[in-house]
Amino acid sequence: MSFIDLHCHSTASDCTFPPRDVVRLAKECNLSALALTDHDTIAGCADAADEAKKLGIDFLPGIEISADFPRPGTMHILGYGVDPESPQLKSLTETLLAGRDNRNPLIVKKLNEMNVAVTMEEWEREAKGVVLGRPQLAAILLRKGYVSSIKQAFDKYLGQGAPAYFDKERLSPKQAIERIHAAGGLAVLAHPVQLRTENDAQLERIIKDLVDNALDGLEIIHSDHDAALVEKFTKLADRFGLLKTGGSDFHGSNKKDIQLGAASGRKIPRAMFDALRDRLSRSQA
Ligand code: AMP
Ligand code: ZN
Ligand code: FE
Ligand code: FE
Repeated sequence: MSFIDLHCHSTASDCTFPPRDVVRLAKECNLSALALTDHDTIAGCADAADEAKKLGIDFLPGIEISADFPRPGTMHILGYGVDPESPQLKSLTETLLAGRDNRNPLIVKKLNEMNVAVTMEEWEREAKGVVLGRPQLAAILLRKGYVSSIKQAFDKYLGQGAPAYFDKERLSPKQAIERIHAAGGLAVLAHPVQLRTENDAQLERIIKDLVDNALDGLEIIHSDHDAALVEKFTKLADRFGLLKTGGSDFHGSNKKDIQLGAASGRKIPRAMFDALRDRLSRSQA
């Protein structure tokens, strides 16, 4: 039996491991395939693909997009197999990064007003890549002693409902799916538990809407999904004829409890990678 990971981050977004190191770690964990799914960018995918080739690991480029969705839920859509060279992908990542560039200075300004000494330059240095995400800012606040944990940084300052929270402009779910398809990729709803739906009927309505907008798959296995949720999402995916995927959502030491290749102690079967790759080769044929 061979195992994989289809959801992980690198320093190109808000993980503490550079892309090549994520792939090396995958090799150490005996994974046979990996997809890198940084927020809003594929900037890490070239290095990761090159390292994967060297180490004999199968690789798919990916991206994770945060779509517009009512509070307190969040809707993240994964794009697998997007073409790094396509103009549509370039335009998509430019749109997503502009959303951050408009938001981030507002967060820093608010923190300064609350007597938290932090600058955009420090955030940029911490980021190491093109995507400035809140977990990096949380790491700075932790290091400077304003908070005693990453979680506290979100509770006290950065999270939804906290004083320095600002929303960024997002694509609608339909737009996110369309733009992933236009870039040659497949669209998969990430960690459906984070939609925080009130009941199964609401969850099913949302998934049906996404399916009507040509969603390709559902992330069944994830670090936030216990056995009961894995079973529930498996049934939903089967009912709607969706691909089933799984990943850890590894973020290095920005989320210390998550290990690459394991989602709540559950490993991710190779068949999930093969099914994605098969569908991609048919959709691109
Ligand atoms: P951003 O992309 O800059 O909006 O930041 C999103 C990242 O922050 C995601 O990786 C989330 O997992 C993380 N995040 C959001 N809310 C929280 C929270 N309350 N506690 C810890 N991490 C959070
Ligand atoms: Zn992240
Ligand atoms: Fe996510
Ligand atoms: Fe993620």
